[in-house]
Amino acid sequence: MIPNFRVGMGYDVHRLVADRALWLGGILIPHTHGLLGHSDADVLIHAICDALLGAANMRDIGTHFPDTDAAFAGIDSKVLLQRTVDLIAQRGWRVGNVDCTVCAERPKLNPHIGNMQQTLAPLMNVEVDGVSIKATTTERLGFTGREEGISAYATALIFRENETFH
Ligand code: MG
Repeated sequence: MIPNFRVGMGYDVHRLVADRALWLGGILIPHTHGLLGHSDADVLIHAICDALLGAANMRDIGTHFPDTDAAFAGIDSKVLLQRTVDLIAQRGWRVGNVDCTVCAERPKLNPHIGNMQQTLAPLMNVEVDGVSIKATTTERLGFTGREEGISAYATALIFRENETFH
């Protein structure tokens, strides 16, 4: 049986503010500012969730986990990622790999990428090699360049072994 493959993309932005913890890629990163949001505002995980949901054509993170729902206030985004993986699994989909880019002027993210990969891979039931995370600045241009926020892009491949879930 030839597996059935799908791809999806996700994009998210959160505002940077003082006096918030910076959660990114499922880990706490020391910084003067953190991301503002209803959940822990982990912009990278949110982009990954949208890529996975998009690949399965199951709408988006806001549809499944609305920011008007008190149940999700301050929630650890790793829980949202796990629930997203469960949601697509209900239709037979498994994660193949994800490839992501985080746009942030500061802090330097490269030293943290290995830790992020190791944190996120088991949540998606993939090997660490299946989680690619890149970091870039935007050369001081735009809202990320002015350190007003951080944005993240994600691409995901999902697959299923048979067609019985249609
Ligand atoms: Mg978000």
